Amino acid sequence: MLQQVKVSPEVRACFHSSCHPTPRPNSQMHVIPLLPGCPWESWSRPNVKWCENNLCSIITTPANTWSNLFYCFFSILMWKEARPTRPALRLFAVASMLVGVTSFAYHASYTWFFQLFDFIGMFCFCMISVTLNCRRLNQLSQHKLVVFFTSGVTVCTLSFLCISMLGLPVQLIIVGLIMLILCQEWWLQRNVYRRHPRLRPKMKKFVQAMVLLAVAFAFSLADMLRVWCNPNNHVINGHSIWHILTSVTLYLLFQYHKQFAYDQYSANLLPIKISTV
Ligand SMILES: [Zn+2]
Repeated sequence: MLQQVKVSPEVRACFHSSCHPTPRPNSQMHVIPLLPGCPWESWSRPNVKWCENNLCSIITTPANTWSNLFYCFFSILMWKEARPTRPALRLFAVASMLVGVTSFAYHASYTWFFQLFDFIGMFCFCMISVTLNCRRLNQLSQHKLVVFFTSGVTVCTLSFLCISMLGLPVQLIIVGLIMLILCQEWWLQRNVYRRHPRLRPKMKKFVQAMVLLAVAFAFSLADMLRVWCNPNNHVINGHSIWHILTSVTLYLLFQYHKQFAYDQYSANLLPIKISTV
């Protein structure tokens, strides 16, 4: 439900589209302020303006906001699929819920403050993959996993603050984390599984996840660059499709990691043994 608020007649007369400051043709990505009197108007704006027009409402961009419920849906699915005996896998479910809730708050509010939390959600999910990959690479012992994961999320968050202050695109941190995950997989394939071919995992889910991520990125880019853009469509658009497709990407990554024995403490099973449970 959208909660409309009371605004002055002048503002109400024009808030949907015609009175939005009209961006110059070459500046459509530029962040547009909210109209005076609207919820969240006095908050700092994020560093990116997606195609969907902002309404004068608690939920400023309905399509980009409600599409985050897909992360929550897949989070519940992951939680059910990961049995209590496999806490490492349940972290994926927690992170997916975090991504959904924080991204919901960010797109509803269109604020820099909640954009930070949106990124913290994504840092958490990416860092779970990075941390477990380090475990598979035998670079981390079991008892150092939490410290490594927490440090990673902290470093990424501090980087967000620094990059934000410099006025550079904070989205580069996520690109860096995805590149790191790809490099880890490449290194595992090239070095570890060549020596231990019996332990080579099934890559189908990982490949599917990466292909879907690329398709999702194309939709989001088309939205951001206004290649495919209808600002008055509050049901579906490029960035909301990004949310839907990447929620499936997270689920596929979870399924990929299901085959590893992260939660078995026997030395001969870790770090790279395919799960036998
Ligand atoms: Zn988003």
